[in-house]
Amino acid sequence: MALSSSKRKAFLLEAGSGIGHSRGMGGVLQRMFGKAGRGVFAALDLVLPERCPVCGTPVQGGAGSALCSQCFSDLHFSYPPVCDRCGASLLGGACSCPSAGAIARRRFALVYGGVATDLILKLKHGDRPDIANRLAVWMARAGGDVIAEADLLVPVPIHWTRLLSRQYNQAAELTRRLAALTGKPWDARALKRLRATPPQGHLGGAARRANVARAFAARSGLDVAGLAVVVIDDVVTTGATAEACAKVLRASGAASVDLLTAAAVLSDCPRT
Ligand SMILES: [Zn+2]
Ligand SMILES: [Zn+2]
Repeated sequence: MALSSSKRKAFLLEAGSGIGHSRGMGGVLQRMFGKAGRGVFAALDLVLPERCPVCGTPVQGGAGSALCSQCFSDLHFSYPPVCDRCGASLLGGACSCPSAGAIARRRFALVYGGVATDLILKLKHGDRPDIANRLAVWMARAGGDVIAEADLLVPVPIHWTRLLSRQYNQAAELTRRLAALTGKPWDARALKRLRATPPQGHLGGAARRANVARAFAARSGLDVAGLAVVVIDDVVTTGATAEACAKVLRASGAASVDLLTAAAVLSDCPRT
């Protein structure tokens, strides 16, 4: 079933709607001076327009990490209906994914590549946690069905040494905003990363699984018995990291574990 052009447009418009306002000059100064400065400094956002987080083009009327129209048009969203196992849109044909292991269902907002990659890398390494505002809106849309059935949202943790250098966990930033948008509880400390695994960018599926094996553990005393948990991450490549997290959560009693990410690499997807 294909979306009609008007439905597709409505999807895009809704997906493009913004929340929050944390990056403009008013937001920056508000963080420096506290709430009292909000009214005074918000006016500065009118004078100094927000810039597209990807290309720097001024964006009029943006509400937190708004993209310019050119960058926005480069994004590829995963439109429903989607494959339960990989989350890819089925509009382009059937999917022949193998069984998903410990993860019941996958959902993602954007196909990784181009502007989507820029957004993820800036969120992850560019000190731009505000980009999570925009991504979370799209994720809430793409993962609406799994979130509706969720009891708990859990971000993929990063090792404390990475947290020290990066100052924030991008997956937790996404989860916090998703929780605010959907009213679902979240727990950033449900899982812990036992060791800082080396970057996986150049590794294949088997090597990635070996890389993350036993890298995660449940927090002592974690009680997720019988809960439907959704693991949240910025990007899924082979799914090895999320699978490792899901195994720990299932071993801790979770009734089901789904995965929701901002983006997904589809190059390995065995679609027919
Ligand atoms: Zn742009
Ligand atoms: Zn699939």
